[in-house]
Amino acid sequence: MSESSLESASEMSARAKRERKLSGKMLIFLQIAALVATLWFLVWPRLERHFLLQAAEQNEVTLRLVGDSIRAALDRYAPLPHLIAERPELGMLLQEPSRSNLIDITNSILLNTALSVSASDVYLMNTAGTTIAASSYHKTRSFVGRNFNFRPYFKQAMEGELGRYFALGTTSGERGYFFAAPVREGAKILGVVAVKFTVDAFEDAWRSAASNIIVTDHNDIIFMASNPEWLMRATKELSPNVLKSIEENQQYPLERVTNLEVTHTFLSSATDILTIEGTSFVGSSDEMSKAPHWTVTSLVPIKPAQFQALLALIVFSLLALISILGIAFLRHRTAQQIRTQKLLERRVKERTAALSHEIEERRNTEEELRRTQATLIQAGKLSALGQMSAALSHEFNQPLAAVKSYAENARAFLDRGQVDEVRDNIGRISKMADRMAAISKHLRNFARRPQEAVGPVSLLAVIDDALAVSEPRLKTSKVVLKYERPEQEPFVIGGHVRLQQVIVNLISNGIDAMNGEGLLELKVISTQNGWQINMRDHGVGISPDAIAQMFDPFFTTKEMGKGLGLGLSISYNIVRDFGGNLWGKNHSEGGAEFGVDLVAADHLSIKAVE
Ligand code: ADP
Repeated sequence: MSESSLESASEMSARAKRERKLSGKMLIFLQIAALVATLWFLVWPRLERHFLLQAAEQNEVTLRLVGDSIRAALDRYAPLPHLIAERPELGMLLQEPSRSNLIDITNSILLNTALSVSASDVYLMNTAGTTIAASSYHKTRSFVGRNFNFRPYFKQAMEGELGRYFALGTTSGERGYFFAAPVREGAKILGVVAVKFTVDAFEDAWRSAASNIIVTDHNDIIFMASNPEWLMRATKELSPNVLKSIEENQQYPLERVTNLEVTHTFLSSATDILTIEGTSFVGSSDEMSKAPHWTVTSLVPIKPAQFQALLALIVFSLLALISILGIAFLRHRTAQQIRTQKLLERRVKERTAALSHEIEERRNTEEELRRTQATLIQAGKLSALGQMSAALSHEFNQPLAAVKSYAENARAFLDRGQVDEVRDNIGRISKMADRMAAISKHLRNFARRPQEAVGPVSLLAVIDDALAVSEPRLKTSKVVLKYERPEQEPFVIGGHVRLQQVIVNLISNGIDAMNGEGLLELKVISTQNGWQINMRDHGVGISPDAIAQMFDPFFTTKEMGKGLGLGLSISYNIVRDFGGNLWGKNHSEGGAEFGVDLVAADHLSIKAVE
């Protein structure tokens, strides 16, 4: 790769990295944006509604309690005027209104009654509606003398019914609930007795509750409220008719009846969100089916519920945010791991390719080495032949000289007609020729480039052939070779010709070491794995230099022309190729000892069968 293309590759990878980072950031940003949108549009309304409904549920409980307490109080007070009207003093006074002692008695009866039933006022009116006796007779703002014929409860009682009414008291200015009953004599109505209860006690109880309570009348005017500012306020626009009836009955002073700004938002079938002058409440209402047909409404501010919803939203958001960031982190890490893995894979691939290349090169080198080795083996053999040439020429010249003399003798015998001698001489010539042919055959085999395979060979046959090749040289020297030929027939793994070459080399080295004189001992020894050809000479021994290097190619201590330094190195490689080993050392009693360890052919086949 050129420098510029390298540069652009690194630039590209940096850009890819930047883009990856950017797209990762973009992704997180989009996810957070989606989260915010989801939170705002989906989660928040549901959460808020959930908590508002929960608040509404609690509110319903308050509402039920308040409604029940109002109903119970009204039911408790309703029979009271009837009971009071039963008192005979009341009828008597109505019939004789000017009897002062009767007035006093009645006044005190009404006062005691008011005290015992916790009524704010109990009073007796004649048929014209004028109060003739009252529990408040002794007060400065006494009801005595006041006329209430405009009040609906008076009218209802005069018609013989139970009068009920609620209004702001015209005398006391207090809100009250009025019950009234006729005082009769037989079927005749003599007057009306009325009982008034104030409602302040209810409100006092409500103020301590968490909810705001309002009680509106049938005209939607707030009659009771835990918040005093809302009192007498109308939650709806009032029609002129309604206003007129209020004025006629003097129920409320009209100047106090102003509008209260209330808006309703639907929350559930039983609950609305009521916003009263800017503050929102969860409102639940209970309409009383019986008179006075009030509507009790319980209101809880929505703020706490909204706050709870907000807290839940924050927790939810944090969890979601943590999840997003966690997922982003995991994704980032996984991507990094994948990148690292890819990088590793690429490196492994590159390394594998480099290794394959190395292996290929090594194979080629080995091939080359093998070829060189083969050439060297050949060279080594030729060198051995060269060394032997003198002995060989002697080996051939001697029989040739003998053949020549036998032939000349034969001719002389033929001239003399001595046929038997002629035959004898020709027979000797023939034997000589056979011997020369045998030597030449061995030499030819030895010199041939081996194409042989490695396999089981007869060790004795190999040694015999090697001895035959070496024989001429041995003969020309004074070296005696002592060969202990074993009884049995060992087979080893090897190649016939190459193994023969190894033995010829060892014999040749032995002869050299003994300077052509001495004893050369050749043995075949059985070993653990096979057989050993053991060669011992009684020569000069292996020099310290040679001990370290004698198996190296071209290492020789011999003079020029006598040694190439290839014999042992080639022999060593040959034996290794057979799975064996060639070693050499100095014998403790002098001279050198060489061993060729070979794998037994039968041993191997036994092993293979195992
Ligand atoms: P060369 O015979 O051509 O020198 P070799 O490889 O056969 O080559 O032998 C290398 C060397 O090993 C010899 O030069 C010699 O120094 C030493 N050597 C080999 N055989 C013997 C032996 N039998 N005794 C002493 N030295 C030996």
